[in-house]
Amino acid sequence: MFINYKKYSGKTVLVVTAHTDDADYNCGAAVARLSDAGARVVYVVCTKGEKGTMDRALSADELVRTRRDEQDAANRILGVSETIHFDYPDGELKADFELQGRLTALIRELRPELMLAFDPEWPEHRQHPDHRACAVAAIRANSFSPLFQYFPEQVAGGAEPFQCPLILLFDVFRNPDTFVPVGSMFRRKCDAMLAHESQIAHLLNDDRKKMLETFMKIPFDAAKQLLIGAFAPAFIVEIFRALRAGDTLR
Ligand SMILES: [Zn+2]
Repeated sequence: MFINYKKYSGKTVLVVTAHTDDADYNCGAAVARLSDAGARVVYVVCTKGEKGTMDRALSADELVRTRRDEQDAANRILGVSETIHFDYPDGELKADFELQGRLTALIRELRPELMLAFDPEWPEHRQHPDHRACAVAAIRANSFSPLFQYFPEQVAGGAEPFQCPLILLFDVFRNPDTFVPVGSMFRRKCDAMLAHESQIAHLLNDDRKKMLETFMKIPFDAAKQLLIGAFAPAFIVEIFRALRAGDTLR
């Protein structure tokens, strides 16, 4: 299926990830299309991302500040309204009841009509543990959020139970069923990724960086997109698996 972006005009879309740059790489084009259609897109980044560097001269605190600034810059490019940082330690995220409670509180407060999150179904050794943890916690939170006996203190404090009707899982392990062509969002997605300079540096080696810079100078978007897509298919099409509210926690 394809997303009916207009349907989300005036609605909130909640994107749950572990690190800055996770969402922009996996669903940056979808986010830009949704925000262009009038959706309010809110990111939740669960960890501080303080371990994501090879640069020994950089302190953890400096890296955290840099990554927040980079995310803010990417948000301006893609039209993201806000990023909420939960600030858990990088690499140590657990899908525990505390994280589920914090996400439940957000779902009840923001009342998103759509959520985007990682697909947690990858084999354990293939998936970053933080990616799995935030995805599992988000899915559980959306199962608990309509039930007032879960986190009753939130309900007593005025939060109304609410369930988001649809979660689109990205970084799909198998059976993708929802597709977002990057197309005209290519330039913005590239710019948003390049805004995460501290992450590009260790994700790409020098040869690949040079290749990317060269591609960016080619004037034809379609040609660029095909070339970049050869080593990063997420620049051609973003793929998702739909998880409807009724599909979870039987
Ligand atoms: Zn990540």
